[in-house]
Amino acid sequence: MASEAVKVVVRCRPMNQRERELRCQPVVTVDCARAQCCIQNPGAADEPPKQFTFDGAYHVDHVTEQIYNEIAYPLVEGVTEGYNGTIFAYGQTGSGKSFTMQGLPDPPSQRGIIPRAFEHVFESVQCAENTKFLVRASYLEIYNEDVRDLLGADTKQKLELKEHPEKGVYVKGLSMHTVHSVAQCEHIMETGWKNRSVGYTLMNKDSSRSHSIFTISIEMSAVDERGKDHLRAGKLNLVDLAGSERQSKTGATGERLKEATKINLSLSALGNVISALVDGRCKHVPYRDSKLTRLLQDSLGGNTKTLMVACLSPADNNYDETLSTLRYANRAK
Ligand code: ADP
Repeated sequence: MASEAVKVVVRCRPMNQRERELRCQPVVTVDCARAQCCIQNPGAADEPPKQFTFDGAYHVDHVTEQIYNEIAYPLVEGVTEGYNGTIFAYGQTGSGKSFTMQGLPDPPSQRGIIPRAFEHVFESVQCAENTKFLVRASYLEIYNEDVRDLLGADTKQKLELKEHPEKGVYVKGLSMHTVHSVAQCEHIMETGWKNRSVGYTLMNKDSSRSHSIFTISIEMSAVDERGKDHLRAGKLNLVDLAGSERQSKTGATGERLKEATKINLSLSALGNVISALVDGRCKHVPYRDSKLTRLLQDSLGGNTKTLMVACLSPADNNYDETLSTLRYANRAK
């Protein structure tokens, strides 16, 4: 039985200009009422389409507002009540991950999941009675299995993962920033994002080759009628994954090949962890196989919630990558 704690939805973007110019044909169809997605192999028209069912399926007419309200809202609500949650967008470069996570300021219906989550958190904080909140943010990047603090004094320094008997896995030296408003959160995220791209230009790397984790931690202390203090803590991880395209297929050598291997390793480690959690029967969840899964260990599984948005291109020339995204997403549900 699929775990309620892990939800997987797919979102198919419209054909882009390049695909239209190349006269690409659509191979993906979405049936949102049944939460199903079908893909037709363009090289084998007589083959029946492959069909997949998810917790939600969204097509070109669906806006991020709807995805947020239907799927992300309960997860973020849980975080404001003291649970941990993680939201990922998965897919090849250009499939709509940033569009879904960061989004556009206009139209407002296409604002991303991240700004919506910031607003949601601060609305809850402001509405809660008799509760004190401490909201803090951190932002890190994992590139080639090295962890760096995107908000630290030295963004190039490699940080170590440590394990604490009570706190669990943490990044030694990662800076935490107290935030009081949506604007502050957005500012911090932008600062971190810029640090990420500065690093890349210097090193001549492309930003879709690293994973980054923006974390909002909320500590709540409420005093009950008897004057007793109740402490709770929730954590929301917003994860921007590297593009899932099989980079080793692109003929990469040297550093690029090493990079590609590490990306594939951590994405498959993540897939293995999620599928072990969903299966529920596995005694061993292989968190230790990558830094990404080690870092997210306390926010994947247990009484935490996970949402994966698998982003798809509709075009026939992306058939292989889209099928591999659908298979990955299918394993995770
Ligand atoms: P990724 O982050 O996966 O590399 P992007 O989010 O940058 O991909 O999307 C690539 C392009 O497609 C961008 O120009 C984006 O605006 C557009 N796009 C993606 N998803 C949608 C969508 N659902 N509706 C309209 N345009 C989209």
